[in-house]
Amino acid sequence: MLICTDILPTVVNLFKRRVLTSHVCSRCGKYPEDAYHTQWSCKMSQFFWKCTYFIPRFNLAGGTFADVFEAVASMMSKADLERFACCVWSAWKLRNDSLHGKQIIQLDNMVENTMEMLAVFKSCEEQSKLPFISQQVHWLKPQVNTLILNCDGAVGCEQGSRG
Ligand SMILES: [Zn+2]
Repeated sequence: MLICTDILPTVVNLFKRRVLTSHVCSRCGKYPEDAYHTQWSCKMSQFFWKCTYFIPRFNLAGGTFADVFEAVASMMSKADLERFACCVWSAWKLRNDSLHGKQIIQLDNMVENTMEMLAVFKSCEEQSKLPFISQQVHWLKPQVNTLILNCDGAVGCEQGSRG
């Protein structure tokens, strides 16, 4: 999970790179905004996490977000871990929406939207399990005065098509 490597553009990381002149969280104005703070311990994030069922199960204090993730990952099923990862994404979106002045929807609706997003993803993932066709392709040097056209493929989840 990208957030565990501490490369997200948090205020602390932007301050270290001299992009910002302060390392303080602009949402609460009290603490340095590192990944742990913005995703887990900031008052705004805590409101969000309390709408999930993760907070009563994982009331962690201090450390890094990698510590939070490690504790959560060691105690959860794969399905719960997927839900947790989607909630982490939503918490980051909540933070960004707040910073950029976007209207914040009800937090419990946000959790519901997050679970719907996961369900859509799982549905698309299931539909995309089309038969795998293995074909070895060897690159050949083009002949003089010829062109090579490289193409990518894609899968349309709703139509079950590919091309
Ligand atoms: Zn804060």
